[in-house]
Formats: sequence, structure tokens, C-alpha cells
Amino acid sequence: MLVYTKIKSVEQKIKSLKKEASIGFVPTMGALHQGHISLIDIAKKENDFVVASIFVNPTQFDNLEDLTNYPKTIDKDLTLLKSSKCDLVFMPIAEGIYNNNVQSQHFDFDGLEFEMEGKFRKGHFNGVGTIVKRLFEIVKPNKAYFGEKDFQQLQIIRKLVDKYKIPIEIIGCEIFREKDGLAMSSRNSRLTKEQRNAAPFIYNTLKQAKVKFGTKNALEIKKWVEDEFKKQPLLTLEYFEIAEEETLQSIKKHDLNKKHRAFIAVFADKIRLIDNISL
Ligand code: AMP
Repeated sequence: MLVYTKIKSVEQKIKSLKKEASIGFVPTMGALHQGHISLIDIAKKENDFVVASIFVNPTQFDNLEDLTNYPKTIDKDLTLLKSSKCDLVFMPIAEGIYNNNVQSQHFDFDGLEFEMEGKFRKGHFNGVGTIVKRLFEIVKPNKAYFGEKDFQQLQIIRKLVDKYKIPIEIIGCEIFREKDGLAMSSRNSRLTKEQRNAAPFIYNTLKQAKVKFGTKNALEIKKWVEDEFKKQPLLTLEYFEIAEEETLQSIKKHDLNKKHRAFIAVFADKIRLIDNISL
């Protein structure tokens, strides 16, 4: 497995491969777990050569404490990637990626950026758009793989390639979960034992919301979820929304012609966890 930190090295390697090999790309922020590896595995099946990037992108954090505390496990990450048969790992430094100007570009994602995560993490999607666009310019993959765990991000990346006519196919990959249903996340490693024991409540609530979606309207379900979280001493609900998948607009009524999804963000003390479920 090749490990590169320099943009030029990646560009040269990709240039030498591009004519005869298809390239799959999995961008990550490291602290890797099986959820990330599931993306690498799918990319490996569909491409000749798989590139993963590890870069904790400062411009997508609105909270300095969250950025500082973001877990870093580089040695373990490289071991995991090697055993997953990733071909190249790109680990750039911020100054190189941002040309010494670590700032976000401003994007118009047709309103997707103002819903849910966009309301609670100011500037987050400008940061995501900036880094993903830049990484796409360097890696120039045929296909790029993103988890449905960050469903809003996935839809925003689809919008990004559409708006900027970037010739990359975006593949959404299912959420990889722990046995008890908790969505795998780099942030899970920061949970205390008690918080970790409480955290499966998030997915259990989503599953129950899905059942209720057959008989109750979105506002009733939202109220039920809010009441359930009030009974949970270790978990604080930040938002729960039922939204249409394409526009991410919250819905009031069930429209049988559209796909819907329930989205949730929860705090365990200062650790923020997100999840979603197709309805
Ligand atoms: P991150 O390192 O958190 O930025 O995640 C990198 C990529 O892995 C993103 O496309 C995430 O959506 C995806 N990902 C993270 N956790 C999971 C999971 N549990 N299942 C599937 N994909 C995931």
C-alpha cells in the first residue's frame, strides 16, 4: 500500500494509472472503523485501484473543541487500510491542500445546506464542499464512495458534482452498525461506558419512528421522539426530522410518491452523534 502526503506524488501516480485503471476514492477523516472499511471494500469490488484519504478538515468544524478532540489513530488506520487492500492512502497537510489559506469557499447547494446539520453546524457544508472538491481535483477518481450515515453530506456531494459538472460517479453506501444497532462513528470511541450503553437508544428510537410512520403524521412522531429523549438522562436530543430524501425538506404528511427518511442528532455530554433511517 502506498502512503503519500504530497499532492504532487498522488497526481503523478494517478496520471500514470488513469489510462488503464479505474479509480475508486474514499475520503475520510481517519480514526477508522469497520464502517469506513465497508466503503473501501465496495470500492475495491468496483474499481482496479482504490485511494483513501485521511484528513481532518478544519474548515468543516464550527467548534474548536470538537476539532481538537477529534480522535487520531494513524497507525491503527494504516494497518486497517492495508488489510482491507486499499492501494493508496493520501494524508495531506492543511497548508498544502488549502494553498496556505485555510478557508472555505462559499457554495450554493440549492438549500440542502440550510437543513438539519446546516442549521446546527454553521459553515459546515461550505467546509465539506471545499475539501471534497479539492480532493476530487487531485485524485480524479471514476467513482467516489460516501456513507449514508452522513446522508445530508451524501446529497450535498451529489449536488456538488452536478453543479460543477465534475465527471465522478457518487456511490452511497449503507450505514454500518454495531451489533446493538449503534451506527459506527469515530466519535463513539470518546463515549464513556455509561454513554456507550445508552447510545443504542438512538437507533431503537429511529426504528420505532419508522413503524409509527405507517399510522402517525410527522409532527406526532417528532413529538413522541422528543418526549422519549426527555426520559434519557445521558442523551440530549438536538434535532429529529422527517424529511424528503431529494430536497431534505421536513414533511408534515406522508407523500406516497416520495422517499422519506428520519434524521437525528443527539449529544452524549459534548459528543455529538448522528444517525438516520429510510422510512
Ligand atoms: P468520516 O471519517 O466520519 O468523515 O467518514 C468518512 C466516510 O465514511 C463518510 O462518507 C461517512 O459517511 C462514512 N461513514 C462513517 N461512518 C460510517 C458508517 N457507520 N457506515 C457507513 N459509512 C460510514
